[in-house]
Amino acid sequence: MQGSVWSRLGAKVTCVEFLGHVGGMGIDMDISKNTQKILTKQGLKFMLNTKVTGAVESGGSIQVTVEDSKGSQTASFVLADCETLLVCIGRRPYTENLGLDSVNIEADKRGRIPVNERFQTSVPNIYAIGDVVDGPMLAHKAEDEGIICVEGINGSVPHIDYNCVPSVVYTHPEVAWVGKTEEQLKEEGVPYNVGKFPLLANSRAKTNNDTDGMMKVLGHKETDRLLGVHMIGSVAGELINEAALAMEYGASCEDIARVCHAHPTVSEAFREANLMAYCGKPINF
Ligand SMILES: Cc1cc2nc3c(=O)[nH]c(=O)nc-3n(C[C@H](O)[C@H](O)[C@H](O)COP(=O)(O)OP(=O)(O)OC[C@H]3O[C@@H](n4cnc5c(N)ncnc54)[C@H](O)[C@@H]3O)c2cc1C
Repeated sequence: MQGSVWSRLGAKVTCVEFLGHVGGMGIDMDISKNTQKILTKQGLKFMLNTKVTGAVESGGSIQVTVEDSKGSQTASFVLADCETLLVCIGRRPYTENLGLDSVNIEADKRGRIPVNERFQTSVPNIYAIGDVVDGPMLAHKAEDEGIICVEGINGSVPHIDYNCVPSVVYTHPEVAWVGKTEEQLKEEGVPYNVGKFPLLANSRAKTNNDTDGMMKVLGHKETDRLLGVHMIGSVAGELINEAALAMEYGASCEDIARVCHAHPTVSEAFREANLMAYCGKPINF
């Protein structure tokens, strides 16, 4: 998905993805499919269920060897006229040679440092936060853990709700989400309502001629509590913070739908999706 900027600059971009969908683990499948459709329209090509097995530079182009992700079919292709290969396959906690042995701290199988809810390691006066501990490897998660860890050392009770940590993919349009996906709710057997609103029907998106995207809201079927928000839109990375705020305060979809949102703004589309989740129909679609 990082290729979308290059694509907009006129480069031909092929994305090779091991999974059967774009956006990585944890993305709502509706949002993943719509994102792929939008990026395909922009000119990106996707090879899903495909594993990169090697890359060799020769004569100014890069030959990338790929195979079916299950390893059943082997094929190779040359990225003609391509000078650059961007590898973005995730990160690992950087705990090797950190000296954990010398203080008797044992990392888990994935190299992470086990901590309790106060971020104390097995050595009580050594704390760990951020990428080296469990949870999403994100800057804002590390920052919040750092703050509450120090508050905890100073005597308060640390608390972080990882379900309210937003994720953002900085493509154009941006993709952002917080809380549960529809697939997770199904798996957990939680009854839910869905509210959707296309940016095609949003006044600001139309004015800006930037209508690719949608809002998707998941509310509890019985209590109407907001359970998850998934967005595609040019300002989704900004708007997702309104959703995170609502989730932190335990808002219902009706609560959000009853908040006056300025017009014309893209955030009205978020309100409309909440309106649909709680009473079945948005106003402007
Ligand atoms: C290319 C890239 C892009 C990213 N983009 C985003 C993004 O858009 N949004 C987002 O939320 N997150 C992003 N991240 C992830 C984000 O940077 C990390 O989640 C975040 O920095 C983790 O914070 P941290 O404090 O745990 O670790 P770090 O920020 O890595 O800080 C650890 C520090 O410890 C230092 N250190 C290491 N070993 C020792 C030692 N032995 N002694 C003393 N110091 C040591 C390191 O030099 C480093 O300064 C990105 C990461 C990368 C690599």
